[in-house]
Amino acid sequence: MHNPLKILFLAAEADPFIKVGGLGDVVGSLPNALLALNDNLDVRLVIPFHTSIRTDSFDLHREIFFTIPRAGVSVPVQVFHTEQRGLSVYFISGAPFTQSSNVYDTDAGLDGEKYVFFSMAALELARQLNWRPDIVHANDWHGCAALYGIRRMQSDPFWHGVKTLLSVHNLGYMGAGSEAALTAYGLPPLNDPDLPWWGQQVPMPLGLWSADEIVAVSPTYAEEIQTSDYGCGLESFLRSKHERVSGIVNGIDVVLWDPRSDSVLARNFSVDQLAMRAENKKLLQTQVGLEVSQSIPLLAMVTRLDQQKGADIAFSALRQIADIEWQAVLLGSGNPDLEDAARRLESDFPNRVRAVLRFDGKLARQIYGGADMLMMPSRYEPCGLAQMIAMRYGTVPVARVTGGLSDTIDQEVTGFLFKDASPTAMAEALRLAMLKFKSKDVWQGFQKAGMSKDFSWNLSAHQYDDLYLSLSSRKP
Ligand code: ADP
Repeated sequence: MHNPLKILFLAAEADPFIKVGGLGDVVGSLPNALLALNDNLDVRLVIPFHTSIRTDSFDLHREIFFTIPRAGVSVPVQVFHTEQRGLSVYFISGAPFTQSSNVYDTDAGLDGEKYVFFSMAALELARQLNWRPDIVHANDWHGCAALYGIRRMQSDPFWHGVKTLLSVHNLGYMGAGSEAALTAYGLPPLNDPDLPWWGQQVPMPLGLWSADEIVAVSPTYAEEIQTSDYGCGLESFLRSKHERVSGIVNGIDVVLWDPRSDSVLARNFSVDQLAMRAENKKLLQTQVGLEVSQSIPLLAMVTRLDQQKGADIAFSALRQIADIEWQAVLLGSGNPDLEDAARRLESDFPNRVRAVLRFDGKLARQIYGGADMLMMPSRYEPCGLAQMIAMRYGTVPVARVTGGLSDTIDQEVTGFLFKDASPTAMAEALRLAMLKFKSKDVWQGFQKAGMSKDFSWNLSAHQYDDLYLSLSSRKP
């Protein structure tokens, strides 16, 4: 390896250590894909040592201990290390994380304290290891204080000229409530009229302001965040920086998500053995207590229950199509009102609906491997992984045409798309899908088209690699 390009990769979660949603999948697979692609990259991943990380399944070593300054006091940082498929992974521990049992807290101040600490500790870790990165690649707001910190430390020879990249997985979460933590860790408010006044001390806007490159997780989302419907108040700022905004669609780990080898499926199957998939549908129906039938279309959701995901739109749409035959299994947890709405749907349609209100990785796989359609009526969807996993497992998505959903689903080829975030628009798309479902051959055509698509990191890791290369050769 000749002078490898050093990438410090920062994120709040990474599968298999800790996963809350799609971010965990992406961070758990992109760094490895990059290493596999280019052996002249030295990617190192830094994540927080969340208390919920279970350490019994991997070797963890105490790596280093140091302190960072916070409001005139030295705060201890402990860093642990492991190797995962050749990737160096560092876990940042310290009081803000040992005192919290959640990856994301509802108390914004608590999260601010956690992730500003994480960001500043990650920068100091690089210095302590005497490992000067060429590029710091942050993901979402959790690493944004680091990007802002680097911009402010340009007179420090260690950080001078280090390039920064911010992947935006979800612009809606900005880290508001971090003001006190930012100040305490020596990051005062920005004073630049380019950025809206309310963003001058909020991690995500500061990260966007600081980053040399901004990558939205799909090309459509990159366009959308520059509009008032999706820009969360930052659209004008992002438009003014459009030359450094691009979109790279996320990939999935096609080894971890493979219907030919997934060990929790009743029957493994490939695109050429779709008939065997029926066994999985049967088991899924049995498991959740729905009538076992191949001819009734089995609809599914696997999702965080959050306004963003539009579960309420799906629930109303299902009520609108009560006149036709279908079954639905809803796997999700989150917003209590949406959980209640799911329970109500189940009690109103006891023979048709099952609401499983928890996070269950195994059941999720069994749903992807056995259901007929996956509903994704997202109000916005930066990329979305569930639809890609579904297609890989032969479940046909019925989704709103937004963000990554419009970049990864081909209308009436691999899935069904609808425009408005309304139950009526969704009901119409569901009716069309169920009409097509009646012909087994036609339906298998959709399944085969989805299963044949390449959702791996192959292409997207190349795009990140190219971006790293062009960024590293850019003048400071
Ligand atoms: P987001 O990151 O916005 O939550 P994505 O579609 O990008 O949405 O990724 C969601 C990931 O989390 C997928 O891997 C999906 O299978 C998984 N997931 C979501 N909800 C659940 C759940 N209740 N149980 C198991 N897995 C879930």
